Amino acid sequence: MRLDIITVHPPLLESPFSHSILKRAIDKGLVEVNVINLRDYAHNKHRSVDDYAYGGGAGMVMMIEPIAVCIDELKSQRSYDEIIYMSPDGELFDQSLANQLSLKKNLILLCGHYKGVDERVREHFITREISIGNYVLSGGELAAAVVADAVIRLLPGVLGDETSALSDSFQDNFIAPPVYTRPADFKGWKIPDILLSGHEANIAQWRYDQSLARTKVRRPELLKKH
Ligand code: SAH
Repeated sequence: MRLDIITVHPPLLESPFSHSILKRAIDKGLVEVNVINLRDYAHNKHRSVDDYAYGGGAGMVMMIEPIAVCIDELKSQRSYDEIIYMSPDGELFDQSLANQLSLKKNLILLCGHYKGVDERVREHFITREISIGNYVLSGGELAAAVVADAVIRLLPGVLGDETSALSDSFQDNFIAPPVYTRPADFKGWKIPDILLSGHEANIAQWRYDQSLARTKVRRPELLKKH
């Protein structure tokens, strides 16, 4: 998979891809992440990427020209499955959307800033708009990092144990069972005996029961999807 992330603040996207699972995925060549500085495509005097809003009002709007030049150049090099604009009013991101995106080959994520992008960008370049929740961030970078993380960890070979992403919350519309590690007794707080039994089938049944019970209490709406 190739992910091209267009931003006016590239440093905001350095850390998420420089550590842990995402870094390993990149080092192993399982995903290529390119953080593209939109200013490099602003061919005006001050390399500016934003301007005042027509009609007045507070806040700057990201201009269409640099975004158009940038996206056109990327599209001339390869075809993209989706050109995604991170937007608070987009489709709400969830595990099923992460699964869908993990099957794609080339994706562009466009991060907005200020008041957002000129509407014509959305009309003419964007194929999909994604929100990470009903709240407003200052820019699309953190949202893009969230989407990239959720998608990259699903790519084959990224997680050590091939099955481990499948046992995470939401993957089968269940949330994950509780997990424990040593010590088995911390100041009298003990782990469930069954986990020490060594009986695989019983442990699997216990985990399933726990998942179901938790889903009923915490996310009952997921059970309707079954
Ligand atoms: N004026 C816009 C908000 C702009 S916030 C409005 O009211 O809808 C600036 C940028 O941050 C947006 O262009 C978008 O790229 C990003 N952003 C903010 N909140 C987001 C969210 N919940 N999900 C995804 N991107 C978001």
